[in-house]
Amino acid sequence: MKLHEYQSKQVLERFGVPVPKGSVATDSESAKIAADELGGKVVVKAQVLMGGRGKAGGVKLFDSSQEASEFAGSLIGKRLVSIQNPAGMVVEKVLVAEQIDIAEEYYVAVLLDRDKQTNLVMISAQGGMEIEEVAHTNPDAIVKLNIDPAWGLDDFEVRKAVLKAKIPKPAQNQMVQMIKKLAKAYNETDAEMIEINPCALTPDGKLIAADAKVSIDDNALYKYKSLSETSADSADDVIEAEASRRGIAYVRLGGDIGIMGNGAGLVMCSIDEVSAAGGRPANFLDVGGGAQADRVKSCVELVLMDENVKGLMINIFGGITRGEEVAQGILSAFEQLDVKIPVVARIEGTGAKEGLALLSGTSIIPAATMKEAAEKVVALARG
Ligand code: GDP
Ligand code: MN
Repeated sequence: MKLHEYQSKQVLERFGVPVPKGSVATDSESAKIAADELGGKVVVKAQVLMGGRGKAGGVKLFDSSQEASEFAGSLIGKRLVSIQNPAGMVVEKVLVAEQIDIAEEYYVAVLLDRDKQTNLVMISAQGGMEIEEVAHTNPDAIVKLNIDPAWGLDDFEVRKAVLKAKIPKPAQNQMVQMIKKLAKAYNETDAEMIEINPCALTPDGKLIAADAKVSIDDNALYKYKSLSETSADSADDVIEAEASRRGIAYVRLGGDIGIMGNGAGLVMCSIDEVSAAGGRPANFLDVGGGAQADRVKSCVELVLMDENVKGLMINIFGGITRGEEVAQGILSAFEQLDVKIPVVARIEGTGAKEGLALLSGTSIIPAATMKEAAEKVVALARG
């Protein structure tokens, strides 16, 4: 899960990473108070989970709290669109932070290197808003240091990497310390990515994280109750937010054929089959392994929240998930919801016979194979 910049900075501060003072505001009044507290010379930054906010007009410097507050007011509620995110995201919060003087901008990140199967530190003296361009045209300007999983980082190798990245003398020691703190934060918070861009050097020679992006491994979120709440709140889509609250893996895809199955692979196959049959999948939904009837019901509800859905395909391969549990879940969802769309179910494996028996005589249409289910639901949704 990606954290907002202000949350990322709170996490990093606990590990001793220097960050500018600041606070979050949700309207122009609270932005005014925040800017006044910082003496008026501030930067106002849109808190949206996307890159390229600077170029998108979501980051601005001010000399007075009045102007800062007006800008915050105009930004909140607005959709910000960037090259990285053409669909854009609506700004709900801004960070009002102390404006720092920046002499130089560096880039530093800790992330997972899937090829080498280790964690990786990346350093560049050419940080700032053009880092993607640098990665493209001058990849050697980004120095990579793989972290040995058994030994961790040794001071000498960090120093060597910092020198190789041509970080200038006044910043070298601070950069070594910065990297060690980021690596520690990365390990101890179960992060999958930490990126500081720019890592700013001030004219008086202090290194400070002017921007921060932290992403936490979703499998560790149970350790962060307060964060998983914001995860649901920060989801851009209302149904995805509700799914996140219910602990259901759901992704909205924009089509009109609802899809649910057990297991991510089976759901992806179903999406392919629906596409092959000429339909447009409305969503990805994995009911998970061993789902009980009430969870299945909750999943059906979720898919039907999307008003574009004109047909529903249910694809179950019973293993630890039992066919009759799924059938009961579908039936109890049908009892409570006024389902007007065609629903096609393919149930195989454990409890298939019992499940299909429960569904016979209802409006739910059985299918013998995944392909047949996809073709039926697409044809019925059209009709
Ligand atoms: P991003 O575009 O989403 O990565 O947002 P950033 O937080 O990196 O901000 C974009 C750019 O705004 C940075 O590269 C800086 O050049 C500039 N910026 C951000 N905060 C400050 C600040 O406190 N002082 C100054 N002088 N520039 C800043
Ligand atoms: Mn940045």
